[in-house]
Amino acid sequence: MTPPAASTPGVRSRMQKQRSKDTGPEVALRRALFHRGLRYRVHAKVLPRRTADIVFPRQRVAVFVDGCFWHGCPVHYRGPKMNGRWWAEKIEKNRLRDGDTNTRLALEGWTVIRVRECVRSVAWAADWVQVAVNAARDGLRLRDSVIVLGQGGVVTDA
Ligand SMILES: [Zn+2]
Repeated sequence: MTPPAASTPGVRSRMQKQRSKDTGPEVALRRALFHRGLRYRVHAKVLPRRTADIVFPRQRVAVFVDGCFWHGCPVHYRGPKMNGRWWAEKIEKNRLRDGDTNTRLALEGWTVIRVRECVRSVAWAADWVQVAVNAARDGLRLRDSVIVLGQGGVVTDA
């Protein structure tokens, strides 16, 4: 599947921004975690052909920072008007892949934290990661193995 050309300069710049690996919220989260003394790997492989954005391999905590566009955030995703069906299918595929990644990691004993780019606060997301990592250090796991953090707080219907 080759992507259709961006229909407007606005769409094009949004696509380019969101395609970059080091997105604003991801860098901000990494910085917040680093300041708390946490050390992690960046864009590391957690499953065959799947990488996570911030990884604590020994504690088995995988953090994904998900752009609202590419990951189909139910609050903010707006399909481009041009090539609407192509995009709808593309984004749905991404969502299915995310769900599959979550399930497989959870089965292998990982805690998955998905931070949407619209998360209400980076510090709050960092709190969650810190809690999960500390729990793992103590040989514990959080009750939920997949946690999605969004604009309104913890997303329960993801
Ligand atoms: Zn969003």
